[in-house]
Amino acid sequence: CGIVGYIGNETAKDILIKGLHKLEYRGYDSAGIALVHENGTDVFKEKGRIAQLEETIPDNTKGTTGIGHTRWATHGAPSTENAHPHQSTSRRFTLVHNGVIENYRQLQREYLQEVNLQSETDTEVIVQLVQLFADKGMSTEEAFRHTLSLLHGSYAIALVDNNDRDTIYVGKNKSPLLAGMGAQANVVASDAMAMLHITKEFVEIMDQEIVIVKKNQVQIKTLDGDKVERASFTTDIDE
Ligand code: GLU
Repeated sequence: CGIVGYIGNETAKDILIKGLHKLEYRGYDSAGIALVHENGTDVFKEKGRIAQLEETIPDNTKGTTGIGHTRWATHGAPSTENAHPHQSTSRRFTLVHNGVIENYRQLQREYLQEVNLQSETDTEVIVQLVQLFADKGMSTEEAFRHTLSLLHGSYAIALVDNNDRDTIYVGKNKSPLLAGMGAQANVVASDAMAMLHITKEFVEIMDQEIVIVKKNQVQIKTLDGDKVERASFTTDIDE
């Protein structure tokens, strides 16, 4: 299972698909991508191989901001409905997640009684919570940080907001995830290998941190919103 993300000037689709192929070695049962563009957020997902996913995506698919996922099912059978990305009911927020949310049923009971969940995954609760807190007036960043502070378990998450094509929100706890810095583009990946076609410069993300990734900026923060400075490193792995 794995995560990739890209934000820059190029069309994200092929970059993400190439990244997902590089993560195939980690094992998966389904895969998907989301692309954000001026007319909305497109989600493509399929049970089975990445080659099957590719066949469902039109060649002219737009979007220079995108996230991708290979799933290793833990909650909910391998199926297209349970594949990631998952969207909030209003479709404003879209996210991918690796890991296990141990308290997702409690969170669902406490906050999401009125929400009709579309999947059987622990993951969908995360995106519905972000929507709930945004609807209550929080900014996307605040809603994301607040949601993560409620989660027990492991996660690597990449979130996009249909109202803001210029940002990918990333969170991490006990699941691998790196941010990478390229020329006029930044990336996210479970493994640097997945994004060597864009950059060799990466920065580590520690547990319980978020990263706000824009085309020209990678800002790490704590769940309380304090900025974190961390030096990047250059990997010598070849593509
Ligand atoms: N627990 C999530 C699910 O079953 C994520 C699994 C993964 O890490 O791929 O959908």
